[in-house]
This record gives sequence, C-alpha cells and structure tokens, in this order.
Amino acid sequence: MNIVIVGGGLAAAKATEELRERGHDGPITVLAGEDHLPYERPPLSKGILLGKDDADAATVLPRSWYDEHGVTLRTSSAVDSIDLEAGVVLVGEESIEFDRLLLATGSRPRHLALADDSGASVAYLRTLEDSAAIKASFGPGRRLVIIGGGWIGLEVAAAAREAGTDVTVVESLELPLLRVLGPEVAEHFAELHRSHGVDLRLSASVTGIDADGTVHLADGESVASDLIVVGVGVEPVDDLARAADLAVDNGVLVDEGLRTSDPRVFAAGDVANHLHPVLGRRIRVEHWDTAIGQGQHAARAMLGEDGDYERLPYFFTDQYDLGMEYVGSVGPDGYTDVQVEGDPATGTFRAYWVRDGLVVAGMHVNDWDATDAIKARVGTTV
Ligand code: NAP
Repeated sequence: MNIVIVGGGLAAAKATEELRERGHDGPITVLAGEDHLPYERPPLSKGILLGKDDADAATVLPRSWYDEHGVTLRTSSAVDSIDLEAGVVLVGEESIEFDRLLLATGSRPRHLALADDSGASVAYLRTLEDSAAIKASFGPGRRLVIIGGGWIGLEVAAAAREAGTDVTVVESLELPLLRVLGPEVAEHFAELHRSHGVDLRLSASVTGIDADGTVHLADGESVASDLIVVGVGVEPVDDLARAADLAVDNGVLVDEGLRTSDPRVFAAGDVANHLHPVLGRRIRVEHWDTAIGQGQHAARAMLGEDGDYERLPYFFTDQYDLGMEYVGSVGPDGYTDVQVEGDPATGTFRAYWVRDGLVVAGMHVNDWDATDAIKARVGTTV
C-alpha cells in the first residue's frame, strides 16, 4: 500500500513514525514544502527565541531515521494538486500515486494588509527563518510592536523582554487571550506582562503604520518601532483539499476517525476540522499536542484500524517564569462559572471552567503535579 503524506510539520512526522511502528512496510512518501526536515513549532516562539535552543531542537526525527526506515522524504516539494480520480498527487510535472493520503498541511498566518503595505519592517512567526529573524531584532534599545495578544504575541513579548527589548502589545480585545481564558484568568496574563515591563494597549486597534515603523492607534496615540510582529491568528491551508472537491469548511472536514469525505484520504493537525466524539461538535485545534495525537491516529486509521480520535485539546505555554497547561475546550456555548483553586497572587493556581455543572476545561499555572488531576476532572460534574 502506497502512503503519501502531504506536509512537513509535526503531524506529518508523527504519522510517518507511527506507520513504521505499526508495521507498515510499504512505501511512504512525505512531501514537505519547506527546505527542512519536518519540525515542530513550540521552540520557535520559546526556546529558540530565547536563545536557549538551536534549530535542531525543533527537528522531530533526524534525516537518518527516514533513511533507516525506508521513507522517501522530499523537502522543497510543495504539492500542486490532488487528482482523486487518478489517485495521484502532483508536484510540478510529476505525479505520485497513493492508496492512502494524509493531509497534514497545517495553517498559515493571517496577514494584515495595513502592515504588509506599510513599508515598515514587519514579521510573522511561522517558520524557523521567521523565528531567527525576529530573534535578531531583540536587544536593549530596540523597539518591538506586537499586533495581537494571542499565543504568538505573548510568547514573543516574553522572549523579547528577557532580551531587554522595549515591547508594546496591541490587542483588539479588552484583555490578551480573552477568548480562550475568559476575563478571570486572562487578567493574570495581562498583569504578568505588565509586571515585566510590557506596554499593553488593550481594546486598541491600529489605524495606520508609517514606513519608519510608527504605529498609529485609534485612540490617537502612536508607538515607534524597529520591528512589528503580527500575530493575529492563522487560517488552515486547505486549498489543495478544496480544489480536489473534498469537503472543506474552515479546514478539511473529517469524521470522528479523521477520515475526509473520500475514504482513502485523511487529515490531521491544524488543517483538520474534526467531529470530536467527546465534545459532540466540530473543532479545529491549532496546538502541538493535537498534531501529535491526530498524526498518530491518522496513521493507524490509514492502516485500517477502527476507532475515534477522542483526546481532548491540550496546550501549554511558557512565558517568563510562568508555565501553564490547559486541557479541554470551553467552546461556543461558553461557561457559567470559573473555579480557582489556590491564590493566583502566589503564582501557582488551578482553574476550572464549568458550564451548567460540567467541568469543560481546566488549567494549572506552575503546578506541575496537577496535570493528571486536571485531565481527570475535565468532563466530570461538580
Ligand atoms: P491567536 O492565539 O488566535 O491570537 C490572535 C490574537 O490577535 C487574538 O487575541 C485576536 O483577537 C487578536 N487580533 C486579531 N486581529 C487583530 C488586530 N487587527 N489587531 C489586534 N489584535 C488582533 O493566534 P496567534 O497568536 O497568531 O498564534 C498563531 C497560531 O499559533 C495559533 O494557532 C496558536 O494556537 C498557535 N500557537 C500556539 C502556542 C501555544 O500553544 N503555546 C504558541 C504559539 C502559537 P480576536 O480573538 O478578537 O480575533
């Protein structure tokens, strides 16, 4: 059985590894768009940006692994199209046959035309090269403006401050991470950044950017910058799937077991809009753990194993001396209560989001023994 994997990220690498571990000894071809071995992204906004890790720290499997396991890994090989009828993917003039196909094409940063067209120095953080370029801009006396107070915005802010950079974060909502954490817990992150010297501009919007890097805000103020980092979210790279007439709606639609609308084709990671059997709704999760878990699950599914992908969303962050892990998903129905255990002022606490008596999500801050307890509590009633 010919298996082709489109993508060069974590989901692609974990699927490849799982296929060999599960005994698949047929051909595997991995088509990666970038000129790198498949790599994971957390170090790009954490260890690498802090100067604690080099680029190798992000590589999932060394080149020797692909050679030793008879996997054809092709980098700089972006797929141009998929022909489902012929059962091939096309890279340039070449067509590569598949019996099973995994789409692990990930996501790409949403762009802000206002920034791109300004003539100022503007960066997005998605690739190893992006990470290196942003890191090179850090240092005492350097001025960084970050548009977007999400995960990229806050992790870049923390790394930049640790390097002595002046940092301003412009966030459109009243608090950073507000949609994910709600006001009770998001305030803790706002205070963390303020206490490390970040100039947080909340409920703020950018109205213009000059070529010299001056960022104009709707309240009439302006902020000077040497570099502007834009972190305003991502969009799934689902173009190939859409062009191939697979079902697509905010990502590639997959069933509980990660199958697309074509039974030979699967999707995993950021690009997969998954019908989650435990949450009872569709969810597209843009986090590291889902890329791992779905990559492995899709591999097993391609080999004919039955079963749903049931793992709940999980993510973590490290900012300054704060480490956090989060499990579950509040979702569009929101929550009715937040239960905080411990005193956030001490820097160590747990929080649970509850909807009508059901714990829908939980997290800890700097309480590393709590992970299993939190995982066990999500999904239970209070
Ligand atoms: P994100 O976490 O979705 O945050 C984007 C933030 O920018 C949101 O708060 C958003 O507010 C705000 N925003 C949107 N448009 C804006 C504008 N014009 N001006 C100011 N603020 C604006 O996305 P991200 O930070 O760009 O991260 C990219 C991806 O990498 C995400 O998938 C994220 O999950 C992933 N990532 C994860 C981690 C982690 O798990 N630790 C770390 C880094 C990156 P609205 O909600 O109102 O749009």
